[in-house]
Amino acid sequence: MRNSDLLQRSLKAVWHPCTQMKQHTDQGAGALPLIPISHGKGVWLHDFDGKRYLDGISSWWVNLFGHCNPRINAALRDQLEQLEHVILAGCTHRPVVELSERLSALTGGALGHCFYASDGASATEIALKMSFHSWRNRGREKKQDFLCLEGSYHGETVGALAVTDVAIFRDAYAPLIRPAATVPTPDARRARDGETPADVARRAAAALEQHLERHHESIAALIVEPLIQCAGGMAMYDPEYLRLARALCDRYEVHLICDEIAVGCGRTGTFFAHEQAASENHPFKPDFLCLSKGISGGYLPLSIVLTTDAVYEAFYDDATARGFLHSHSYTGNALACRAALATLDIFDSDQVLEGNKGRATKLAAALRPLNEDPNVRHLRQRGMILAFDVNTDDPHFSRRFYRAALEREALVRPIGNTVYLMPPYIVGDEDIAHLGQAVTGALAAALV
Ligand SMILES: *Cc1c(COP(=O)(O)O)cnc(C)c1O
Repeated sequence: MRNSDLLQRSLKAVWHPCTQMKQHTDQGAGALPLIPISHGKGVWLHDFDGKRYLDGISSWWVNLFGHCNPRINAALRDQLEQLEHVILAGCTHRPVVELSERLSALTGGALGHCFYASDGASATEIALKMSFHSWRNRGREKKQDFLCLEGSYHGETVGALAVTDVAIFRDAYAPLIRPAATVPTPDARRARDGETPADVARRAAAALEQHLERHHESIAALIVEPLIQCAGGMAMYDPEYLRLARALCDRYEVHLICDEIAVGCGRTGTFFAHEQAASENHPFKPDFLCLSKGISGGYLPLSIVLTTDAVYEAFYDDATARGFLHSHSYTGNALACRAALATLDIFDSDQVLEGNKGRATKLAAALRPLNEDPNVRHLRQRGMILAFDVNTDDPHFSRRFYRAALEREALVRPIGNTVYLMPPYIVGDEDIAHLGQAVTGALAAALV
């Protein structure tokens, strides 16, 4: 098979996500090439014509330990011979029990109950529904509203879009949505003269306080992406915001939902991003924690909502209607849970969080020359996410850059004018050098 064979068939039969399909057939500045991938190995993706691409974005932020990882493959083969899937209403199985126990232990036991779904947007909806329903079960029927940050992204189903503040995803479907209120983002790029990122966080928290003071009676939960608003443009902020938001949510009796679908699983340097808001005397715990993307190592669709005993107990009753009535056919899929267990095993046996410190430092060094580029602003990094904004009015910049990076054997998809790297946690020194050269080269090529 050649690239061109599969390309034609794909364009005819497959409707690709988040894509204006016409761009796949266009030529010229706005063209978006479709790449037929024949196989993957480690950080590399290979097409049918012998070209290769370094997966600089972990295949939409899901792949942690490379493609066709031998250890995850072996765990899945073993699981296939035992149980592929079973209904989780009324049945249970080893992978789902072990995964729940291990995730709960990773929160220090603070979030002891795991609810399962298959994708991130569903996790968001589950957290919203659970928060609302737990308040109602406690006689707080007025708590029906949600609060999100400006520029937030929590998924694209109709319910998740209610707490997603990204115009391109939300505007077309606005008539279908019951939108949540937004409060100012603590995005550190908003710093005024002389302000530190912590100052911006305190300013945003003051606005949150004002909003809660007036509306807390009707608000069930605040939902945030801890430390980095990823799809909103890799907006990074100071953990001080999380500490202040936690205290305000406690004071005004509002749940705090941490959406760690993108920033969880080691991305920001700690296993959960919210851990960075904790200090010795002040542990930090959300009321709900949403996980997906990296949790299965990038192998299978899986999402999990973890919550507290207090929330769980609000549902524990004789009446069925007071239970949490939500289900997905593939809830707690055994193969997906087993992939997640294999992923957690790799974190433990390879001391991944420790190793990522070195990888993050090398990534920073490889991209440091961009600081000298007058077209580059806000070069920023937290853990294994590095991003910068590009000064350009070219509406085709992101596609121009994407094509230029592909020519340099790298898969890097900017969000608008924000270029970012989010590689798998197995990038070696040569891979990092390759990414550094591909990004600087593609930037120069895209800006002509
Ligand atoms: C990707 C993402 C989602 C949605 O997950 P899907 O699996 O794409 O539905 C939700 N929240 C955040 C922060 C995400 O990055």
